[in-house]
Amino acid sequence: MSLLKVTELGKSFGGVKAVDGISFDLAPGELLALIGPNGAGKSTTFNMVNGQLKADRGSILLDGQELVGRKPREIWRLGVGRTFQIAETFASLTVVENVQMALLSHDHKLFATWRRAADHKREQALALLDQVGMKAQADRPCSVLAYGDVKRVELAIAMANSPKLLLMDEPTAGMAPKERNSLMALTKQLVIDRGMAVLFTEHSMDVVFAYADRMIVLARGRLIAQGKPLEIRDHPKVQEVYFGS
Ligand code: ADP
Ligand code: MG
Repeated sequence: MSLLKVTELGKSFGGVKAVDGISFDLAPGELLALIGPNGAGKSTTFNMVNGQLKADRGSILLDGQELVGRKPREIWRLGVGRTFQIAETFASLTVVENVQMALLSHDHKLFATWRRAADHKREQALALLDQVGMKAQADRPCSVLAYGDVKRVELAIAMANSPKLLLMDEPTAGMAPKERNSLMALTKQLVIDRGMAVLFTEHSMDVVFAYADRMIVLARGRLIAQGKPLEIRDHPKVQEVYFGS
C-alpha cells in the first residue's frame, strides 16, 4: 500500500498553472526524487503536501487520510516532516513568537525553567545527533560548523518528530559533490533504518541517479515522466524538456 497518494493535484497563481493535475504514489521506505526545470512546480507541490499552500483541486492522502484542507501543524502531527534551514528554524515562528523568544532569553528566571525542560530532552537530542554522526560536535555552536555538518543537524531536527514522510526541497543546494554524497548516503541510511519515505528535489543528476529509488519529472506543472532513474534517463520527453537536447 502506498504511504502517500497524490491524485490530480492542481494549483494556480493568477493565470499561471503552477501545478496542473499531477498524480503519483510513494511507498514506505522509498526515496522519490522530484525533478524538473526552474518553475516546473516542484516547490508548489511540496508546499501543498506540507500544508503551506492549499491545493485548488485534487487529493493528497497520507495513510488514507486527506491532507488537503489541513493546517501545516496538523499535517506535521500526522507524520509529514520537512527539513528547515537552521536559519529558518526561527522563521517558522510568528513575528510575535520571535520577539517572545528574545524576551525569554533575557528573563533569567524563565530561562532557567526553559533550561531544565531542555536538559530533560538532552539525551533524546544526543541520540538523534548520534544517528546523523554529529554527537561529537553536540556542544559546539552551529555557527562554527562546516556547511555539510549544518545539513546533518537540520536532518536531526527533522527527525525529532519521527516523520513517516520527509520532504526535502533541494537538500544539497550549495554543497560540494563530496558533501552531497555524504548527506544523501546518510538520508538513505535513515530511510532504511526507520522505514521512512523521502520526497526530495534535486538539481544534480548524479545525486538522483545514485540515490533515488524512483523519480518523477515535472515540466510547466505537468508530470511528464516517472520511473526508475535508468528508465527515465533516455526518455525522449525528458531529454527534450529537462536536459534541453
Ligand atoms: P520550482 O520549484 O519547480 O522551480 P515553483 O513551484 O516554485 O517551481 O513555481 C511554479 C510556477 O508557479 C512558476 O511559474 C512560479 O513563478 C509560479 N509561482 C510559484 N509560487 C508563486 C506565488 N506564490 N505567486 C505567484 N506565482 C508563483
Ligand atoms: Mg523550487
